[in-house]
Amino acid sequence: MTTKILILGGGFGGVNVLKSIQNKFKNDSNIRISIVSQDNYFLYTPMLPQVSSGLIHPSDITVPIRKLCKQAEFYHAEISFIDLKQKLVTITRTFDGKVHALDYDYLVIALGSNTNFFHNKNIEKHSFVIKTVEDAVSINSQVINMLESAAQTSDEDFKKALMTFTVVGGGFAGVETMGEINQLVRDSVKNFYPSIGTENISMNLVASKEFILSELGPKLGKIAGNYLRKAGVNVLTKTKAVDAGEDFVKLDNGKVIPCMTLIWAAGTDIDPVIYNLECQHHQSGKIMVDEYLRVLENENVLALGDNALIKNPLTGEPYPATAQNSIHQSSTVVNNLYSAITGKTKLKKFSFKSKGMMTTLGRKIAIAVMFGLPITGPVAWLIWRTYYLSQLPMFEKKFQVATSWMADLLFKRDLTFIGLIKNKSLTKVDMKYDTPPIEDFFKD
Ligand SMILES: Cc1cc2nc3c(=O)[nH]c(=O)nc-3n(C[C@H](O)[C@H](O)[C@H](O)COP(=O)(O)OP(=O)(O)OC[C@H]3O[C@@H](n4cnc5c(N)ncnc54)[C@H](O)[C@@H]3O)c2cc1C
Repeated sequence: MTTKILILGGGFGGVNVLKSIQNKFKNDSNIRISIVSQDNYFLYTPMLPQVSSGLIHPSDITVPIRKLCKQAEFYHAEISFIDLKQKLVTITRTFDGKVHALDYDYLVIALGSNTNFFHNKNIEKHSFVIKTVEDAVSINSQVINMLESAAQTSDEDFKKALMTFTVVGGGFAGVETMGEINQLVRDSVKNFYPSIGTENISMNLVASKEFILSELGPKLGKIAGNYLRKAGVNVLTKTKAVDAGEDFVKLDNGKVIPCMTLIWAAGTDIDPVIYNLECQHHQSGKIMVDEYLRVLENENVLALGDNALIKNPLTGEPYPATAQNSIHQSSTVVNNLYSAITGKTKLKKFSFKSKGMMTTLGRKIAIAVMFGLPITGPVAWLIWRTYYLSQLPMFEKKFQVATSWMADLLFKRDLTFIGLIKNKSLTKVDMKYDTPPIEDFFKD
């Protein structure tokens, strides 16, 4: 009898479950492991803002999932439906758009989160987001395009709007992206676009809370805000963006910022597949799990990462949606899967106390809390780089990132404008494929 384990999502949760479940069932021919993801690579998000500023290359922080599949099958496909009753997952293959079904005995759900625009269609239409590699490359192209345009206009008001960049969101993603873009724009104007003039640069970070980086607490949040202000960023706290157009952003205090670039990093939402899952949900839409990370009333289904609501047993508060938490949850998921399948180990409850948190604010500046101690400035920046480099999967990627960082300290930034990534349709091939078409499952 073969036991089928199906992992949904190739991010921090999914890939870490994949890596350790393969080790647990090494060379066990009775176990069939499969993983499905709409991206054929794992993305190391903590360094994504550095791709948006051109500091590192997109492929520096992506690892093809197939490279991690030692004894697992990979499906490059979009998941459209999970049927918990029939134990079937419906997928649409990326290369030909055909719909298939995968069955399972044990399911792991780690589909992460989507961007939340809070139903504001104008903001959704006119903003960039920072979630995928394509998003980061698009932001980089946009910034360089704005620099080229501003260098060639004599209309001073238009030049100011071209050189105004607004990031909405005071969390890690928003703050790091602001820090990176600020560095890129200021360095580039100084070195390559003297006709623009630094006085025309305007960087705005809009955050709804009283201080930025609320995860680090008020003291460090305020220090981070002051660092950014010193670096030339207008940090607007207790403020929300309520509307946007091609050339403006409107704030809830009535102020309108003429601005050609808006980056939205202000909220997360749940994937529609998770919303449609027939199980118990938290009001945020996240999947409710028990202390063993099993989906309530579905003991053969486990969920982790951003798509699950996991409460800290010590505080009763949900664990924040971080890569760190997803990685730790993955080892509990693997232990509990192994326990359920073999009966050789006991079920383990999930509990984790973070040793620290940190974020970069630009070149040689970062802010961190390690074992409760606040650390700021270049020391924190060095700790950030050392820690995140060590966590990056695969030696070749560590080497690539270290080389890019070294180049940034020695040379000036690359300002190549790649332009839009065009959607080129691939020749469709009707290959013989292992997975039976979905109709086969519903014949009778
Ligand atoms: C810019 C940025 C910076 C960040 N910085 C940090 C940081 O410094 N430290 C930190 O701890 N956290 C950071 N985070 C948060 C961290 O990335 C997430 O908490 C973490 O990725 C969650 O892991 P996950 O496995 O739940 O989801 P993800 O890592 O997002 O993985 C979800 C996976 O599911 C796939 N998927 C989703 N929907 C479908 C579908 N319908 N069909 C097929 N596949 C699908 C995706 O392609 C992806 O592979 C950052 C996030 C961003 C965006």
